Amino acid sequence: MFFHLKNGKNKGYCAFGNHSVKTPFNQPESLKMSKKAVVLLSGGLDSVTCLAVAKSENYEIHALCFNYGQRHKIEIECARKSALRLGVEKFHLIGFDLRMWGASALTSDSLTVPEFEANRDSVPITYVPARNMIFLSFGAALAEGIGARDIFIGVNSMDYSGYPDCRPAFIDAFRQCANLGTKAADEGWQFNIRTPLQYLKKTEIIRLGLSLGVDYSLTHSCYNPTPEGRPCGHCDSCGLRREAFASLGMKDPAA
Ligand SMILES: [Zn+2]
Repeated sequence: MFFHLKNGKNKGYCAFGNHSVKTPFNQPESLKMSKKAVVLLSGGLDSVTCLAVAKSENYEIHALCFNYGQRHKIEIECARKSALRLGVEKFHLIGFDLRMWGASALTSDSLTVPEFEANRDSVPITYVPARNMIFLSFGAALAEGIGARDIFIGVNSMDYSGYPDCRPAFIDAFRQCANLGTKAADEGWQFNIRTPLQYLKKTEIIRLGLSLGVDYSLTHSCYNPTPEGRPCGHCDSCGLRREAFASLGMKDPAA
């Protein structure tokens, strides 16, 4: 699936076989003059803050969201609402099914989302195998296709669940991989993988987002929401979020 979102109007259409999408191949001059960025957007607190950072740097933003078979679709709606609020050129939604092999509590109903555990020393079962590698690969493909050099991802290695694909070493390795596996290698330009939240604590991320106009009531971070779409209050993501808002003397507006 592929959705176009501009000036507050939604228009959905199929990603494949759609001929109305403008490509860099028929607009080379305008692409050279524009400053475009791809922002990976899940609808969670971090990715929406990351979007606000990119917006503050005056990029023409292509938000890239994934329906990958995650436990719930609430975050996708949050991504769409935040993209509308902050303003993006296009909201792209790509669907594929990681439930085919499960292997994560987020993509399998037979695995249970564990309770919040601060300072966990192993990778939890909510880790989705190679998820950020998949997301960044789509991001690089979109960026190359539209003529963008900058790809934003809201990874964080301070207050996080310990996922290997959020760490700086992986991000740098992917940057090298993208620069070798695309036309960048032959044309003499480079992708930048932008990670503005990498070394921020969750409280610092929230402060940054508030300073940039993020409405956190439109974000959703819970791994295992109730059937009504409310945060469970018990998972890692809920725990990290709750502690951060409490440290700032605030109530989580999405809780
Ligand atoms: Zn939760």
